[in-house]
Amino acid sequence: MLPDPIRKFADLFAALPGIGPRQARRLAFYLISQGKSVIAELAKTIYELSEIKSCSQCFASYTNPKTTAALCSVCSDPQRRPDVIAVVEKETDLISLEKTKKFPGRYLILGELKKDGILDAVQKLRLNSLKNFIKRELKGQAEEIVLAINPTTYGNINAEMISQELRGAAKNITRLGRGIPTGGEIEFADEDTLGEALQNRS
Ligand SMILES: [Zn+2]
Repeated sequence: MLPDPIRKFADLFAALPGIGPRQARRLAFYLISQGKSVIAELAKTIYELSEIKSCSQCFASYTNPKTTAALCSVCSDPQRRPDVIAVVEKETDLISLEKTKKFPGRYLILGELKKDGILDAVQKLRLNSLKNFIKRELKGQAEEIVLAINPTTYGNINAEMISQELRGAAKNITRLGRGIPTGGEIEFADEDTLGEALQNRS
């Protein structure tokens, strides 16, 4: 019989994506062999994930222990243009775009898009919160909304749906320019390619 702490650990970890019961048990024995300080460090690191907050404007995850502000570092940066907004699918896409250092504006993370282009309730809420922000802070119209969505078949369908939802909310609604191969993904584009696609948006 497995001791209770191991069984408990294995049950919890086996419920995580990509980890089965056998791997969870192996992980437990491995950690036990590493000793108390490694286990304590891991426990602390896991606990710190509970301090991650979701930005109330762009929905990126962030930690800001110094203030109680509900905004991430991009949304609270006065140097970033509030009237140029990139709509992205995933947080990893935001990170890829940030790495290019070529985007002066802010973001909205929509969450994983469906193949058929139908936006779910959360995505509609997020688009509405963007529209409200534009009404409140930008006198009803942003300068530009960049749909930084993968140039794949489902990405194109979704971009069409999103631009319908956002009609009238910006002077220009653009897509990333050439550079990212058709069918390619933003997350995997190198910085130069993505930077170029950002500058050539149309
Ligand atoms: Zn934010």
